[in-house]
Amino acid sequence: MRDLATLPKAHLHLHFTGSMRLDTLIELASSSRTRLPSSFLDGDPLRVPADRRGWFRFQRAYDTARALVRTEEVMRRIVLEAALDDDAEGSRRLEIQVDPTSYAPFVGGITPALEIILDAAKQATTLTGVEVAVIVAASRMRHPLDARTLARLAVRYAGDQPGEVVGFGLSNDERAGQTASWERAFAIARRGGLASMPHGGELLGPDHLREVVSALGPTRLGHGVRAGEDPTLLDAIIAAGISLEVCPASNVSLGVYRSPDDVPLRTLMSHGAQIALSADDPLLFQSRLVNQYEIARTLGCDDAELAELARGSIRASLASPSTKRAWLAEVDTWLATPDRRPETGSSGSREADVPESHALPEQGA
Ligand SMILES: [Zn+2]
Repeated sequence: MRDLATLPKAHLHLHFTGSMRLDTLIELASSSRTRLPSSFLDGDPLRVPADRRGWFRFQRAYDTARALVRTEEVMRRIVLEAALDDDAEGSRRLEIQVDPTSYAPFVGGITPALEIILDAAKQATTLTGVEVAVIVAASRMRHPLDARTLARLAVRYAGDQPGEVVGFGLSNDERAGQTASWERAFAIARRGGLASMPHGGELLGPDHLREVVSALGPTRLGHGVRAGEDPTLLDAIIAAGISLEVCPASNVSLGVYRSPDDVPLRTLMSHGAQIALSADDPLLFQSRLVNQYEIARTLGCDDAELAELARGSIRASLASPSTKRAWLAEVDTWLATPDRRPETGSSGSREADVPESHALPEQGA
């Protein structure tokens, strides 16, 4: 049972506001005299039913947090803290997802809003060593024409370096709108060199996933976990080289599965899916990146399988091939290094054990 926080990995499904530290949210709320919903303060992760009312509760809590993000300083802080937290959890690369529309009114427009995020991502990369790239995500709750505007903006900042836009997404309630109406926005993004990363296959099942796959041509699927309900579809997704950003804690919080034991991670793995475990919105689900790997461990994954999940996240990232090779080698080192952490509850002397921080390979710079 090696330390999962030192397992090198990539974090590919994390929303900008949803990444916020709870302490930061509480500080912002108190300085603006905003009352936070009890779901943030009761110490428990959000739990809602997987219906429209449940989504509404989730969205209302999310919107409360988002409404507190009103300055460039706060936007920069969120990106940096997300990178610092990822760094502490062994993440080598964070692809953070943002819809700049919501922050535009406070910083002079949608273009400055995106530029602030990109600059903060670049700075966070330098400060933490975690590569931070950006996915611009349109919302299903807005008109598809807005998504085209957003896609054109995203394309202007497309690139393959940290601090650049690497992908285009589609988020919010999967049940809203007609998937095909976002086809044009995704075509603009794809022509501009961006990878396609729509949400799909969490709240809705295989039929909807087929639509998302055929209309939006995903490189990766945000969630995609319900492909596990249809082996033929799952095999087709895998054959098409589409990776799945699986977020077990999110699935449970949003009522898709009753408990982590019901998340069909092992089904997806046994078919050979390339999986990037991710936290989605740790602010609401109170479960960060390493916690997703811990859930995989409770589902019976041994260290070799956990290493393979980490490799999947690295391969599914949009980092450069040479960087991916270096991180994959670090995963091999993690797995090859015997676990020498002191056993909890053992009566033996702990002094004989190598301290935890020195027992495992060092994190790469
Ligand atoms: Zn998401």
